[in-house]
Amino acid sequence: MTEKKANPESIIRDYPRLGPDDSFSFRCYQSLECFTNCCNDVSIVLTPYDILRMKHALEMDSSSFLEKYTISPFTKDQKVPVVLLKMDKETKNCPFVSSEKGCGIYENRPWACRMYPLGMAEPDNPTPEDRRFYFLMKEDICLGHNEDHSITVSEWITEQGIEEYDAYGTPFKELMLHSFWNGEEALKPEQIDMYHMACYDLDRFRRFVFETRFFQLFDVDEDRIEAMRNNDMELSDFAMQWLKFSLFKEQSMKINRSVIESKLGNGVKNGAK
Ligand code: SF4
Ligand code: SF4
Repeated sequence: MTEKKANPESIIRDYPRLGPDDSFSFRCYQSLECFTNCCNDVSIVLTPYDILRMKHALEMDSSSFLEKYTISPFTKDQKVPVVLLKMDKETKNCPFVSSEKGCGIYENRPWACRMYPLGMAEPDNPTPEDRRFYFLMKEDICLGHNEDHSITVSEWITEQGIEEYDAYGTPFKELMLHSFWNGEEALKPEQIDMYHMACYDLDRFRRFVFETRFFQLFDVDEDRIEAMRNNDMELSDFAMQWLKFSLFKEQSMKINRSVIESKLGNGVKNGAK
């Protein structure tokens, strides 16, 4: 869940900043009148790790999960493709919520749902005085703020199992904060598709690397290939590395020397014709 009205500028400018040791009053439980209010008409941005957790829990492949449960809005001013949880067209409810049981994927709910009512912000080009901070989203629909229960930011983060999400989310975060996005260049449609596949549609990315000549063209350690075959997180980390190479022109992949040599050989032959 994310706050419906706040925008990044006002959060950075106006919101009181909280650090890990700061505390706030909050408690959420089923018998509160507002139970599940927060799971209606919200913009929940999903990370690659959120999608992995949910598709495993639902025993779906990533393409089917994305088609059924997400939307990927893309406007002409937008540079970074994002994936959002798709709310029901009529009720605007999250597809996983029920008024009796609450969240149907509670153990695997996304990062944003775990964090709520806390948000996290990081100014662009942060200075030592102006780094990442937490802030409290106080919405009228949420009665948990009236509860007499004090908790620190770091206690909340531990209680909600957010550390694991943050740890697995590091390569994606690096990608999101890449200086490429601050430049003039925009991704072409085929690059957007590549970005979407590598970040979110991991089962399609798996076919892209395992069912093509990919590992003939790129020099990748055999042990790593085996690890990727059996482990989605290994594959996801590799996908981020691939994007840095293919979209941002970083030297994060090694092209197979024999391929270059054979191309050069062909070039010489072709040139001699
Ligand atoms: S995923 Fe769960 S916690 Fe998040 S909005 Fe949906 S029902 Fe609510
Ligand atoms: S207390 Fe807030 S977070 Fe908890 S169910 Fe109510 S609206 Fe949702």
